[in-house]
Amino acid sequence: DLDLILESYQDRRPIVISGPSGVGKGTLIGRLLERYSDTLATTVSHTTRQPRPGEVNHEAYHFICTQEFESLIENNAFVEYTFFSGNYYGTSRQTIKDQQAKGKIPILEIEMSGITQIKKNKALDMRFVFISPPSLQALEERLHKRGTESAKSIERRLEQAKVEMEQAKIPGFHDIIIVNKNLEEAYIELEEWVSGGAESALAT
Ligand code: 5GP
Repeated sequence: DLDLILESYQDRRPIVISGPSGVGKGTLIGRLLERYSDTLATTVSHTTRQPRPGEVNHEAYHFICTQEFESLIENNAFVEYTFFSGNYYGTSRQTIKDQQAKGKIPILEIEMSGITQIKKNKALDMRFVFISPPSLQALEERLHKRGTESAKSIERRLEQAKVEMEQAKIPGFHDIIIVNKNLEEAYIELEEWVSGGAESALAT
């Protein structure tokens, strides 16, 4: 039973989930957290982007202004941060510590440059999964359907997706790539990978 495996999870490394905007990461992560709320918890990033309808401050993100963000950068508050599609996004050291203090395995949902920064930092040890769309065209359709972005923003996000999908192909960049063609199947694959890490940790 996966719950039991996760309960005795010895591999406490944070899990980094990335993938192009609109690929369905949010849905997949949401499901995982719902099921393993005792074990896993997402970190809350800081951003300078405007909240979308329904996004609650300090839950979806800590929404702050550019000046505040830059002052946090200066104070070395972030394990990684990026300027993405016109806004700053960053993961604070504190948000990781907060989840670990609660006994949880932190889940980071970040874009690729953040991953590069984390990989460069020898003090950090994390696991990496990339969620890929079946194609760029499928992603474009999803972004239009979601209806949360302007045409300009969709264009920028698609450009970014192209770069990310190229980077994801570099061998060893991620521990696993999951293609989200069918949500159900992608979820099962993600869940198995998360628990697989637990099993291999227990086996050693
Ligand atoms: P969105 O605006 O759609 O919420 O997020 C845009 C992108 O920023 C997504 O790819 C998301 O994974 C990424 N992102 C969110 N928070 C962070 C963060 O703290 N650091 C980095 N590097 N990327 C983030």
